[in-house]
Parts: sequence; C-alpha cells; structure tokens
Amino acid sequence: MTTSRREILSGLGAGMVLAGVGTRAGAAPTRRIGYAIVGLGSYATRQIMPNFAGCEHARLVALVSGTPAKLDQYGAQYGIAATHRYSYADFDRIRDNPDIDVVYVVLPNSMHAEYSIRAAQAGKHVMCEKPMAVSVAECEAMIAACRKAGTKLMIGYRSRFEPYNRLAIELARSGHVGPTRLITAEHGFPARPGQWRLDRPLSGGGSLMDIGIYSLNAARYLTGEDPVSVSAVETTDRSDPRFKTVEDRIGFLLRFPSGIVANCISSYSSSHNGYRVIGTQGWIDMEPATPYEGQRMSIRKDGVTTPRTLPAAAKNQFAGQLDHMAECIVSGTTPIVPGEEGLADMRVIEAIYRSAAERREVVIRA
Ligand code: NAD
Repeated sequence: MTTSRREILSGLGAGMVLAGVGTRAGAAPTRRIGYAIVGLGSYATRQIMPNFAGCEHARLVALVSGTPAKLDQYGAQYGIAATHRYSYADFDRIRDNPDIDVVYVVLPNSMHAEYSIRAAQAGKHVMCEKPMAVSVAECEAMIAACRKAGTKLMIGYRSRFEPYNRLAIELARSGHVGPTRLITAEHGFPARPGQWRLDRPLSGGGSLMDIGIYSLNAARYLTGEDPVSVSAVETTDRSDPRFKTVEDRIGFLLRFPSGIVANCISSYSSSHNGYRVIGTQGWIDMEPATPYEGQRMSIRKDGVTTPRTLPAAAKNQFAGQLDHMAECIVSGTTPIVPGEEGLADMRVIEAIYRSAAERREVVIRA
C-alpha cells in the first residue's frame, strides 16, 4: 500500500511546523547559511559534505582539519578558498570569518565538547555529531557556552529528518496501532579493530555511545517521553583485542512514565538495525530503521500486515538536517534536536552504564 499524499503532507507538515520552517511567507532564509566542517573523516566527507548539494538554505564555506593534504583535496573539490581552510591550531580564527555561521563538529566523541565550546566562544552557531559528548557534565557545559554566546546548538540526530522515521513518530504517538505498550529497538555492527571508537579516551565508551544511542534515541522519540528508570546488562569478552577499554554488547530496559517499556540492544559484535512499536492493536515495524538510506516500514493492524512505502523525498535526511539549522538561525527558532536532546540521551547513557556496573535498576532523574 502506498501512503496517501495527504497523509504524507500532513505528517511532514506537522514536522515543518515543529521545525519552525516551511510555507509561511517570509520564513525562507534570504541567504544561504555558511557551514564550517571540523574533522574531515568518513562521516563528514562521505555523508555530510556531498549533501550540501541538495540544500536550499545551507552551504559549505570552510574546512577545519589537522591534515593539510585533506584541506587541499576537499578544498579543491568543494571550491573552498585557502582563506577558509583552517588547521586545529588556527581554529579560533574562525571568529574573524563572517562567512561562517555554523561550525559542524564531526570529530571523535571526546573532542565534541572542546570544539563546540570554542566555536560558541568564537560567536558561531554549533551543530555537533552524536553522541553530543562523553558525559552529562560536558553536555551541560556545551549548552551553557552556547547560551552565554547567544548561539544555537543542534545535535546531528539525522533520523528526525528522515520521512519514514517521522511517519513512525506520528503513527506511534497518535495511537495508530493502539496505545503503545512496548518498544523493541536494536542497533549494532561488528566493530573493525584499530579505530578510535575502541579507544575509551576518544570514544567515551563502546557500542552504546556509538550505535546503541540509536536504540535509545528512537525509544525516546517514538514515545515522546523520557525514561524514569533503566535496567542494563553488559556482555563483553575482554580477551577480544577490540574490547580492552570499551564494552561490546549492552542490553537495556527503559521504563517510561506512561508505563511503556522499551527493550533495547546495542552491539559491537553483531548486526542489527531496527525497531518495533507494539500497540494494543498491532505493531509498526522499521527494519532497517536508521541507515543512511533504504528504510523499510510495515504495519500490522487488526491481524493484517501491510508494507508501507513513501514516495522518494525531495530532500534526504542529511540535507534536511543542514537546512533545518539554517532555517532556525534565520527565523530565530530552536532546532527540534537542540543540545537538551543530546543531554537527555547522555543522562540515560550514564544511568545505563551505572545499572550494568551495579547490576540493579537505576532511577533516572531529569
Ligand atoms: P572518522 O574516524 O572517520 O573521522 C574522525 C575525524 O577526526 C578524522 O578526520 C580524524 O583525522 C579526526 N581527528 C582529529 N583528531 C583525532 C584524534 N585525536 N584521533 C582520531 N581522529 C581524530 O570518524 P567518523 O565515523 O567520521 O565519526 C566522527 C563523528 O561523527 C563521531 O562523533 C561519530 O559518532 C559521528 N558519526 C555520526 C554518524 C551519523 O550517522 N550521525 C555516522 C558516523 C559517525
């Protein structure tokens, strides 16, 4: 079955109102908002930078890297002038570049706080990759720095700009398959050895920080609630050279205020990407749920299972995310995934680790 045009428009319309953008006259930015990308690694160069081409309101204007050859290569590829290419040592000079509106931090996790705070101190808006940082204290410091500087802070939760996930949120929260009773969410992949993700000082933790956060974030956006407690179990083979300093698998059960329970999996040694929202009359299934492309949804309602397909979106989740921050800057609105959203995940992540370590249910306080 193909979802009707009206249904899609109403779903995306709701998101656009939330996003503070859209069809209102005069809401569109008058100029493209300029982004500086910090950290020219895999995600920045393969997913983010190519997708400025699909943006209406955002453009790539500067690059920051510790590797001169990358600055040369990507600077030439994207037409970034030498005056707009920075090393980490030069980073604070972005203050003097009026073309840069937003600094997008795409560095290893433990570097997010430092570069986000320095960007705010340079008077720039901040987009920061997930996980927002490696502790609640760092997240709070980032929020405080942006507040003090009067700049916006948004976390790279791209699934919130992906049409199937947006539809899943709308269907789950409106009780399409009855009130939600249970959510299952699974994310994982076999971690390749020898990378910063497996080095705790750079990653802040293992699979949970990197990929399990998708299970957690989905449970929160599908319910629209913050969990009140968590019970977690960690399973890590410490003789595996990949897992000397970080965890492999961690399962966690989240209890939400409404009584919804989410049973979540995070893994660095097996492949998972999906979630299911189970209501009193059926379920909404997404598998895969959060890849870069190729989401698949099916819905079981009143005993009938039906695949749900959406027409190709005009803008993919990456361009949608980049444009959303631009629109928020121009219209003076708050991003739908602000720093507080990253902080909320980090509070739960700290509770998950505590629960696993202490082998007990941990109450989460907002
Ligand atoms: P990567 O290893 O490919 O890139 C990291 C970049 O940081 C490299 O360019 C590297 O040179 C640079 N760097 C600077 N200082 C470093 C140091 N001390 N050690 C290691 N690298 C250093 O990693 P990535 O996959 O691009 O991940 C970067 C960030 O993006 C992470 O926070 C990750 O969680 C996030 N990410 C998000 C998504 C998503 O879908 N939202 C996907 C992948 C990665």
